[in-house]
Amino acid sequence: MVSMGLFNKIACQKCGKAVRMTFKVGKQLVCHDCYVMLEHPERLKKKKERPKILLSTSATYWGGHIKHPIGKNGESGRLLVTEEKITFNNITFLSKNKWTIEIPLEKVLWDKILIGTGKDIAYEQQMSGWAFFATGLPVSTYSRQTTFFTITFKDENNVVHSPKFQVKNTKEFSEVLYNRISKIKKRELTKEDAEEPLKVLKMRYAKGEISRKDFEQKKKDLEK
Ligand SMILES: [Zn+2]
Repeated sequence: MVSMGLFNKIACQKCGKAVRMTFKVGKQLVCHDCYVMLEHPERLKKKKERPKILLSTSATYWGGHIKHPIGKNGESGRLLVTEEKITFNNITFLSKNKWTIEIPLEKVLWDKILIGTGKDIAYEQQMSGWAFFATGLPVSTYSRQTTFFTITFKDENNVVHSPKFQVKNTKEFSEVLYNRISKIKKRELTKEDAEEPLKVLKMRYAKGEISRKDFEQKKKDLEK
């Protein structure tokens, strides 16, 4: 239920903020923020959980994902990078043909990432339509190179895919990708560092070099 203070602001009876529009919660008239907090806390949670988008760029997908073969023009769409994954959505007017490739960054085989150059087929096709008639120059004049990113990863079923993308904001994509790689690698290294002493301890216990009591005690110390 809503009441409006058309000329004067009304103080929210929960937080005291002066607002034009109030909502009735029980017997209190409250502001919109308090109303959401009291009546729809799930909305607040959803808002917070939305991942931060590090990069959004138009891109062309050139195959490599087993589930998504391509036509000769590639598949144009949008590439999004968040802290946890890379997502490619194709853009088609027929909604039944819409699909998404999701690449969880944790599942990327970083050593197999390929960044290479090749012929910009999309550009050539686009130019060849009118270039000759418009300029009289041979179509081959409009050939150019572009950068391709091949990102190999394992999906949730452990199937390996190597989708290849041509990205509009090549430089930004490289930077974002590199930053994410560094962060994830660092995280993995710290994890390994933490696991290493425990491995040594287990080994020594297995070899009979230390007693069970010593093993349990040392393990406790390490986990502190
Ligand atoms: Zn309030």
